[in-house]
Amino acid sequence: MIINEKEIFDILDEARKADIDEIEEIIEKSKDGFGLSLYETSVLLNAEDKDQINEIFHAAKELKQRIYGKRVVLFAPLYLTNKCVNNCLYCGFRVANKGLIRKTLSIDEIVEESKALEEQGQKRLLLVAGEHPVESNVDYIVEAINEIYNNSDMRRLNINAAPMEVEDFKKLKEAGIGTYQCFQETYHRETYKRMHPQGLKSDYDYRVTVMDRCMEAGIDDLGMGVLYGLYDYKFDTLALLQHAEYLEGKYGCGPHTISVPRLRPAHGSAIEEVEYPLTDEEFKKLVAVLRLAVPYTGIILSTRESKQLRDELLDLGVSQFSAGSSTSPGGYKDKKKEEADQFYTSDERKLDEIVNCISESGYIPSFCTACYRVGRTGEQFMKLVKDGKMKSICRANALMTLQEYIEDYASSDSSENAKKVIETLLKEIDNEKVKEEVYNRLDRIQDGERDLYF
Ligand code: SAM
Ligand code: SF4
Repeated sequence: MIINEKEIFDILDEARKADIDEIEEIIEKSKDGFGLSLYETSVLLNAEDKDQINEIFHAAKELKQRIYGKRVVLFAPLYLTNKCVNNCLYCGFRVANKGLIRKTLSIDEIVEESKALEEQGQKRLLLVAGEHPVESNVDYIVEAINEIYNNSDMRRLNINAAPMEVEDFKKLKEAGIGTYQCFQETYHRETYKRMHPQGLKSDYDYRVTVMDRCMEAGIDDLGMGVLYGLYDYKFDTLALLQHAEYLEGKYGCGPHTISVPRLRPAHGSAIEEVEYPLTDEEFKKLVAVLRLAVPYTGIILSTRESKQLRDELLDLGVSQFSAGSSTSPGGYKDKKKEEADQFYTSDERKLDEIVNCISESGYIPSFCTACYRVGRTGEQFMKLVKDGKMKSICRANALMTLQEYIEDYASSDSSENAKKVIETLLKEIDNEKVKEEVYNRLDRIQDGERDLYF
């Protein structure tokens, strides 16, 4: 069994009995970076005392910097189609939304979209699709991947599309995808059933076993998540971690990333009021506790969240940001049409503004795609992270991709701040040989070389 609801409810009940001293002990333990059990995670999610919550925030920030350093990886979603056979009540793409302008991009249009994103400086995309077995089947997605790789400077393509069969995943692997991402939305069966009344997605078990089929097909770079707001966030977070533990136990490797999407209003959604709303404070606590619970897993934050909250979450352990996003097919090249959007985004800043803000906060905006290209995925990646070796690799690669961004895309404001970050971070490299090599490569990038990485 992948998800044991009763066990999760029992843990949640037990954790409610924890007193302030026990919470303190668990915070202390979390600083070691060995992760937390489901029970410990549950206890921290229950923390209410302001000082203790601040301590959790502090521990999360410290741990993130110890493992990944100060880099924040940037990417953009590219929507291939908004046609969908499902009727997920919360989504603007649901089949019953008759007011949506439907569109499946042609392969040429997809390449145009990726070029529009490339012109902004993006190097890594998340291809997103509604579920349509005819128009957006695996062969269409594979063709899109091949053409983007062949016709643009995109260096890593991740996928967020409906669950598939092993044979289909093998085709995606062959095409060179980075991460395959699929959110369970909610692990609570009854709520899942209510939220997904018809279409292929109404089969909970087919969705919850999708990661197994990926592993069988040789894709070990997996992205998981739940859609916060559909059900109790504590239950869903524990269930997500139970799923991660299951994968780790069975395949020796948990998810590469966890996304934390929060339900947004959507044009044509059937949800009038969020049943399990999560306040910003709870959301921040949740992100920080996730960082402590699974220290080696990347945490992805999208533009569903506001500028202010995203800036705050930078300090709490988030390691990847989407930037300058459109949620409609064709939305980058053509003027934004909200009648074709999946949901309304909140952080509307352009990529360059986000690069500028991240640099101003002392973090390194990174366009690095090195790991997947040198085969550092799955178990191998996790081993390097756990041995503490990823931090310096990430930092060097982030600095080089930021130098590329400065040379090719940056405005004068962001260029100035990005240069300051590079200068400061170079000083933090204590291995003289590595420092010399990074200086050398930064010079080569200024002289016109591109795509250098460790
Ligand atoms: N159609 C595929 C699926 O459902 O798995 C993949 C793409 S779907 C467009 C990507 C994700 O968008 C969903 O998994 C869901 O979590 C999220 N989503 C849908 N409606 C949303 C809303 N109103 N607010 C925030 N996120 C939403
Ligand atoms: Fe379709 Fe995915 Fe939206 Fe559900 S969430 S309606 S499957 S695009």
